[in-house]
Amino acid sequence: MEQTFIMIKPDGVQRGLVGEIISRFEKKGFTLKGLKFVTVDRSFAEKHYADLSARPFFNGLVEYIISGPVVAMVWEGKNVVATGRKIIGATNPAESAPGTIRGDYAIDIGRNVIHGSDAVQSGRKEIALWFPEGVAEWRSSLHSWIYE
Ligand code: UDP
Ligand code: MG
Repeated sequence: MEQTFIMIKPDGVQRGLVGEIISRFEKKGFTLKGLKFVTVDRSFAEKHYADLSARPFFNGLVEYIISGPVVAMVWEGKNVVATGRKIIGATNPAESAPGTIRGDYAIDIGRNVIHGSDAVQSGRKEIALWFPEGVAEWRSSLHSWIYE
């Protein structure tokens, strides 16, 4: 089954949105496979965002991600990467639809509350980086009530 890496960024933690955000993924029917509350250091954040290292906002982005604890998670389910991105909303909250996490809870692009993998392959890479120890092996007993 497909997996994605989701991270509640430091602003989401500070603003008390952890429960609300987890709830949206849970209620959709996705399965939580890994979760940790961590503060990452600069080199780790630079690794996570390595693809963006040439962008002008890179240093500010790294400062933002290391500014406090984050909630790192692995969620599993059919199409969870693409659907997760829809639940999160557009990168710039000014363009995120109402009903999405960023549309409902964010204003500025540099304080957009949450990260989600943009493709299955980058998801695999991010999960390997954040959860080198692996994730939980379990299957929800609700599985057949969610999948036909
Ligand atoms: N970002 C920013 N300014 C920009 C573009 C991106 O501060 O002009 C930040 C923003 O927090 C975004 C993150 O960099 O979530 C990663 O950018 P990406 O394009 O990968 O967006 P995402 O995949 O998070 O929607
Ligand atoms: Mg991205």
